Amino acid sequence: MVKGPFYRRSCCFSLSDAIANPNRNEEILAISLAKQNYWKRSETVVPKVRRAYTRPIDPSVAAERLAITEFNTWYVRGFAKRLIDEGVTQCQVYRAGIPKHAPAECSKHEDQIYSVKEVYDGHRARYWPEPGNPNAFSIPAGPNCHHTIRRIPKTNP
Ligand SMILES: [Zn+2]
Repeated sequence: MVKGPFYRRSCCFSLSDAIANPNRNEEILAISLAKQNYWKRSETVVPKVRRAYTRPIDPSVAAERLAITEFNTWYVRGFAKRLIDEGVTQCQVYRAGIPKHAPAECSKHEDQIYSVKEVYDGHRARYWPEPGNPNAFSIPAGPNCHHTIRRIPKTNP
């Protein structure tokens, strides 16, 4: 089960569903998570200055946000473990979505090839628990990073 602060009340699902198909990218992942029965129909919002109110949850919007942010952290972890188990030693980092702001330290990893073990061992180390270790190598590199990993694409013949 994957849970996070923002989604704690609204969603839960099996991580193994998403890892089962290693060729899935974030877009397909979001579509697979956009099932009505994965989500509550509405959520209660408690603003600081106004009264609490309830708003509907759009499964496609919620699934996209989840696929690209918090879920990605665990997808990378699980997929790296799978590659290690298969004896695969390297993977490629790529951008799965456009963040609101892209730190340069984050963008430098784009399309680069890394050791799968390094990615696996670096899980969250850079930013969690806070303040994290700025010298650690983590994919995603931080809470707003939209980078993920894939198998190294086969070169064209
Ligand atoms: Zn990034």
